[in-house]
Amino acid sequence: MLKYRQISIAFICTLVVIAACDVFFRIPVLLYAGTILAYIAILAWGSADISSNFYTETLCRGKMDSKTLALTFDDGPDDRTTPALLEVLEKEGVKAAFFIIGRKAEENCSLLRRIDSDGHLIGGHSYSHSSLFDLFSRRRLLGELTRTEVIISNCTGRKIRMFRPPFGVTNPPLCDALKQKGYKVIGWSLRSRDTVISDEEKLLARIKARIRPGDVILLHDSLSQTASVTGKLIKFAKEQGYSFERPDKLLGIEAYEKV
Ligand SMILES: [Zn+2]
Repeated sequence: MLKYRQISIAFICTLVVIAACDVFFRIPVLLYAGTILAYIAILAWGSADISSNFYTETLCRGKMDSKTLALTFDDGPDDRTTPALLEVLEKEGVKAAFFIIGRKAEENCSLLRRIDSDGHLIGGHSYSHSSLFDLFSRRRLLGELTRTEVIISNCTGRKIRMFRPPFGVTNPPLCDALKQKGYKVIGWSLRSRDTVISDEEKLLARIKARIRPGDVILLHDSLSQTASVTGKLIKFAKEQGYSFERPDKLLGIEAYEKV
C-alpha cells in the first residue's frame, strides 16, 4: 500500500497547510473541495486500475524481452464451457491459469481436478463473485478467501497462493485480507473485454491488435465463445513467433504453497 500511504499523507499535509493558511488569508472553499475531490479521484483510479500497484503489489506482465505470453481464465469452472476450452489447450499444448469462483468449484469438483491434472494452475477469484464484493468488510473478505481455498484444497490437494480480485478492483480491506493470507495478487496486461464483446471476430481483432511480448491475457472460461477464440488466438500468436508459458513461469512465482 505504498502509493496509497504516500498519497494519503500528502493529502493530509495539503489540508493542514491549507487550513494553516486559512488562519492568515481567506482561503476559498473551492480549494478545500478541489483537494478532497482530487484525493477521491486518485483513490478511485487506484482501486479500478489493477496495474496501478496503488494498494498492493500486483503482478500483471512478464518480461518484454522475449515473445512469450500467458493465458488466464476467470469465473469458472463451468461444466458447460470449460471442458471445450481444456480440449483446445490440450491440443495446442498450452498451460494456463484458471482463477476460479469458489461457489462454482464446489459444484464442479471433478472439473477442477481435471484442470489441475491437465497441468494448468488454479488461483482464487472469491467465493461468491458478488457485485457487492468490493464493499465487503475485511472479515467477510477473509471468509470468502478461506472458504474458496478450502474447497480447492479438498478437491485437488493444492493450497493456492494466487488470487485475482473480482472486477480487477482492489481496496484497503481486500489488500489487508490478501496480505493475511499471503496471496500474490495477479492482474493482467491485456484485457480481452470478452464479457462485453460477443462477436468472435471483433474480439479476436481487438486482442491481435494489442498483443505485446510478456502479456498476461485475461479471458473468461464461463463464456461460450472462449474455446473457439482461444484456439484461434493461440494459432495467430504462434504464427507471429510467440510461445506460451504457464503464468507462474512467466511471472516467476510459486503458484502453490509447498506441502
Ligand atoms: Zn471475475
